[in-house]
Amino acid sequence: VIELGTPTRSVITTCAYCGVGCSFKAELNGDELVRMVPYKHGKANRGHSCVKGRFAYGYANHKDRILNPMIRDSIDQPWREVSWEEALSFAAAKMRGIQAEYGRKSVGVITSSRCTNEETYLVQKLTRAVFGNNNTDTCARVCHSPTGYGLGQTFGTSAGTQDFDSVEQADVIMVIGANPHAGHPVFASRMKKRLRAGAKLIVVDPRRTETVQGPHYKAAHHLALRPGTNVAVVTAMAHVIVTEGLMNEDFIRTRCDWDEFQHYAEFVSDPRHSPEASELLTGVPAAELRAAARLFATGGNGAIYYGLGVTEHSQGSTTVMGIANLAMLTGNVGRRGVGVNPLRGQNNVQGSCDMGSFPHELPGYRHVKLPEVRAIFEQAWGVEIDPEPGLRIPNMLDAAVAGQFKGLYCQGEDILQSDPDTKHVAAGLAAMECVIVHDLFLNETANYAHVFLPGSTFLEKDGTFTNAERRINRVRQVMAPRNGYADWEVTQLLANAMGANWRYTHPSQIMDEIALTTPSFAGVDYATLEEKGSVQWPCNDANPEGTPLMHVDGFVRGKGRFIVTEYVATDEKTGPRFPLLLTTGRILSQYNVGAQTRRTDNVVWHDEDLLEIHPHDAEQRGINQGDWVKLASRSGETTLRATLTDRVSPGVVYTTFHHPVTQANVITTDYSDWATNCPEYKVTAVQISPSNGP
Ligand code: SF4
Repeated sequence: VIELGTPTRSVITTCAYCGVGCSFKAELNGDELVRMVPYKHGKANRGHSCVKGRFAYGYANHKDRILNPMIRDSIDQPWREVSWEEALSFAAAKMRGIQAEYGRKSVGVITSSRCTNEETYLVQKLTRAVFGNNNTDTCARVCHSPTGYGLGQTFGTSAGTQDFDSVEQADVIMVIGANPHAGHPVFASRMKKRLRAGAKLIVVDPRRTETVQGPHYKAAHHLALRPGTNVAVVTAMAHVIVTEGLMNEDFIRTRCDWDEFQHYAEFVSDPRHSPEASELLTGVPAAELRAAARLFATGGNGAIYYGLGVTEHSQGSTTVMGIANLAMLTGNVGRRGVGVNPLRGQNNVQGSCDMGSFPHELPGYRHVKLPEVRAIFEQAWGVEIDPEPGLRIPNMLDAAVAGQFKGLYCQGEDILQSDPDTKHVAAGLAAMECVIVHDLFLNETANYAHVFLPGSTFLEKDGTFTNAERRINRVRQVMAPRNGYADWEVTQLLANAMGANWRYTHPSQIMDEIALTTPSFAGVDYATLEEKGSVQWPCNDANPEGTPLMHVDGFVRGKGRFIVTEYVATDEKTGPRFPLLLTTGRILSQYNVGAQTRRTDNVVWHDEDLLEIHPHDAEQRGINQGDWVKLASRSGETTLRATLTDRVSPGVVYTTFHHPVTQANVITTDYSDWATNCPEYKVTAVQISPSNGP
């Protein structure tokens, strides 16, 4: 029970959980946070919120929080609390020493999509301007990097095409590989309102999620595909649309590359892509798939929303391109009620990608090999930028195991718990000579760290987040950083300890630099954000009010590009030893690895990850409701409790990954998306057997 004081003042800020980006009024009594009230003028949420944003902020004052910097010479030694100055000069000396011995490219950074745009911009600047390489990557690598590739190739930029309001004009809503009910609850509420008003719903998901059916609505079609076969389903839908003449030829002729379309149409028309042929691969009944394709093509405004069930596959980028193909084929781009909308997982995945956190791209999605782009930053930063793309997260870990990558600055990301194939991550971290963890808590990755720099919570941050609809929202400081420094200040101090001379005194100055160097942000500054509340990029001279809908008159790349999407089965195969397919997801009340939600004690959260298994598969193995089971894959094994449900089909099992004790990523493989290395979290061949418990 919480004793609530009477609020005496309030600060408008933005939720730091999911990519919906809800605005909140943080109400305080003096310096004590009394409650978070959903802000009625917030353009993403219009006064609504979910349980996480409303209640799950207690972690900011949790006893586990580390408030003082710590160092140690090796990971078998105990931590030693030191001053900020000592910690930063220790870290700087280690990193410079490593570079002197092993070369400029032997160090790098991993940033977090939970940080602000300004923090993220500074971290990639640290890599490029101070470390002198492009070894910068982000946790978006493990979630939406295929969106960057797929939408970049087809439309010309990595961004959702619509604002959230647009769903109110949709007639057919197709949700692929996402469960907005749990992952994006406030957007889900707006979507469900539209469904209750009569819009039709198609869900493509191996599991019968809460999104499939709710009070007063039910999906017209639930395509419960076999995990790993998204491409075959999307291509079969295109087959129906093309072979039955349901495409929007006017749109294709005027807005898309006609030659590319003809090549694509020939490809999808092949009988091997028919629903009947695909059924053998996907398990989706051909008649159901045909009906869904017809509905999407002929049912009016068709809007597509997708999530990590699309991207976290060996063909994640291919499915994103397949989805873009479907939207272009049916003319569902460039007006209200339609579009292709990646539901970004974390609060600032969009911003993290926008800010140049990828090893091949500078801010604004511009390739580092382009001299004219490097010149902009070289002039602004007064340094020479390496034209060679850097290492992605998995490449950093591989290089570490091979003895070539020795130093890592890891900000706000617990890679040991969140990245696939835990044993390999641990081996990579253990092989490094300096791991700097900048975080709120001593997380799993910190077990391998030599320097711990305390981080600040969203309540202590000043800056901006960019949500899934490209909306740049202000994050305002509700309370002073308990650890003494804002995260952007820590990055600046580290840069200066390594020889830079940065002189930012407020995050607004960082945003001014972003605007100067990044065309889609050219019209963004804190005064504009104060005046308008928020803006959606691109915001510049051509779009001074921002851009709620993209690709209205033409695609960013000019003509929309159809791309052939050949289905290639994952290398992760079931067989006699591992006959079931494991897929993963999350629940509404927890968030990712649970670092925050598990440390919030003002509400009762579920306290373990469960394994969903179909009663038929359970019976074959002598497993009853609530039994402990051993879950084993080629990568490793863990133990958790079983829950029997027909939400999953026979042959498919499902779990969440919110608790470190479960170690779901001990099970997952190191297969990844062919274009971006996004891990294939959603398909792992497993076996289940009874167990006596952990
Ligand atoms: Fe926060 Fe997302 Fe919930 Fe909104 S929907 S309150 S952004 S977790």
